[in-house]
Amino acid sequence: MLDLLIRGGQVVTPSGVGEFDVGVNGERIALVAERDATDLEAHRTIDASGKYVLPGGIEPHTHIATAVSQAWAGRPGVMTQSPEAASRAAAFGGVTTFIDFAGGMPGTENGDQSGSSIMKRLDDRRSVFLGHSYTDFSFHYTLAGEVPPETIGEIGEAIQAGVASFKIFTTFASKVPYGHLWAIFDEVGKNGGIMAVHAEDDDIVKYMESKLKKEGNDHGYNLHLVHNNISEDIAFRKIIRLAEHTETAIYFVHTTAKEGASAIAEARSRQLPVYGEALHNYLHFTSDHYKQPEGTAIHTYPAIKFADDRDALQQALVDGTLSTTATDEYTTYKDVKLSGNTVETVCGGHNGIETRLPVVYTKFVSTGRMSIERFVDITSTNAARSLGLYPQKGVIAAGSDADITIFDPTLNKTLTLDDLHADSDYSIWEGFECRGYPVMTILRGKIIVEDGKLLGDPMDGRWLSRKVAPQVLSRPVC
Ligand SMILES: [Zn+2]
Repeated sequence: MLDLLIRGGQVVTPSGVGEFDVGVNGERIALVAERDATDLEAHRTIDASGKYVLPGGIEPHTHIATAVSQAWAGRPGVMTQSPEAASRAAAFGGVTTFIDFAGGMPGTENGDQSGSSIMKRLDDRRSVFLGHSYTDFSFHYTLAGEVPPETIGEIGEAIQAGVASFKIFTTFASKVPYGHLWAIFDEVGKNGGIMAVHAEDDDIVKYMESKLKKEGNDHGYNLHLVHNNISEDIAFRKIIRLAEHTETAIYFVHTTAKEGASAIAEARSRQLPVYGEALHNYLHFTSDHYKQPEGTAIHTYPAIKFADDRDALQQALVDGTLSTTATDEYTTYKDVKLSGNTVETVCGGHNGIETRLPVVYTKFVSTGRMSIERFVDITSTNAARSLGLYPQKGVIAAGSDADITIFDPTLNKTLTLDDLHADSDYSIWEGFECRGYPVMTILRGKIIVEDGKLLGDPMDGRWLSRKVAPQVLSRPVC
C-alpha cells in the first residue's frame, strides 16, 4: 500500500514526458510506472488528469531574512522578509527548495557573526531557518572582501560538510580582489566545489557612477548605464579566464546582457564547466520600464538592460546556453524598495519566489518556444545538478525525494497582489497574464499546498547538504 499515488497526469521524467503513475512512500518516490499498468493502491490518490506532474521547483538564488543597508532602505534596522513568509510564497509558487546565503560581510549581509569560522557562521545562519521554513533550503557561502588565508583554509572542511558553492562579488563593498579570488578559486576547485559569481567590472561601475553624478544624470532610471553591458562583458571573461587557470567550475548568477550570454556560450563551446542563471524579471522587462512611475521597482542588480539583451537571455535559455532561472528574491515593502532613487541607492530585488514558475511557463512553454522538459530543466533539474542536489532533488524518479509540483496548463490567471503570499505590499507582476499555474505542491511526500490552501508547517523544511557530481565540475553537462 502506497502513501500517495498521483494518477493521470503528464509526468516529466528524465526519459521524457508521458502518462505515468507516480507512487510515493514516506518521503521518497517509490515508483514511476506506466499508467494503470499495475494494480496500485494508496492511502490517498490524486487525480492529475489534464495537468503536468513536475519535480518541485528549485530557486537557486534568494536573500531571505537579510539586513537591508541603510543606504537602500533609507533607515536602519530593515530586513528582507522572514523565512516563514518567503517559504510560504515559495510553496504556493510550486517551489520546494531554495538556496539562500550564509557568511558575507559582517553586519551588511545576513547580520551574522564576524571573525568566526565558516562552520560557525553556517550554523548561525541555519538556526535562522530551522523551524521557520515550509520548504527545504540550503546556503551558498559568501566570501567577501580581502578573505584571510585562515578562512580560505576552511573551504575544504566546509565542502566536506555539504556547502558545495561559494559566492563572491567582483563589485560593491563585498568585492573580492582578484589575487584573493585566485586563491579562493584554487581552493574551491581543488576540493570539488563550484563558484557562484556576481560578475561586474568594478572600475566601470565606479567610473559610471561618478560620471553620471557629475553630469546630474544619476537618477535610478539610469542604473543600466552604470551596471552596463561592457562591465558584464569584461567581468564574465576575466572570471572565465581565472576559472580556466584554476580548473574551477563557475555558476554565473544573474546573467543580464547579450555579452554575458556570449561569454558563457564561448566557454561552454570549449567544454569549460560554466553555468549561467537568468532572473525572471530580466526575461520580461527592459530598462525603458525604469522611467515609468515607480519603475525602479522592477530593478534587481546588476541592472535590467535593453530589448536585445532580454531577447538574448530568452534565446540562451531556449538553446541551452543558460542553465537555470532564479529570482534574486529580496522582499521588502514598497516604501523601502522605492526609498532610494539614485544609481547608488535603489534597493535591489523584489518578491519573486512565487511567480517564477508561472511567468517562465507563460513566456516559453505556452508560446511554444520551449518543451515542458526544458522548462523542468531550467526551473528545477539544472539547479539541482549544477549546485549539488541531484538526484535527491530536481527529478521524478524512484528513490528521489517526493518533491512534486502539479501544474495546470489551462489555468489562466491575471496576477494581482491578492494572489501572492509574500510579506510585501507590491508586486512587479501586477496584471501579468499567466497561462498556466501550479495547483499543488508536495514536499517529501507531504502535500504543503492544495487548492489554494496552505497545509504545510514551518517545521517541515530541512537544511540540505549538497555535493556537486565530478562530471558537472569537469565539463558543461546541463
Ligand atoms: Zn543576489
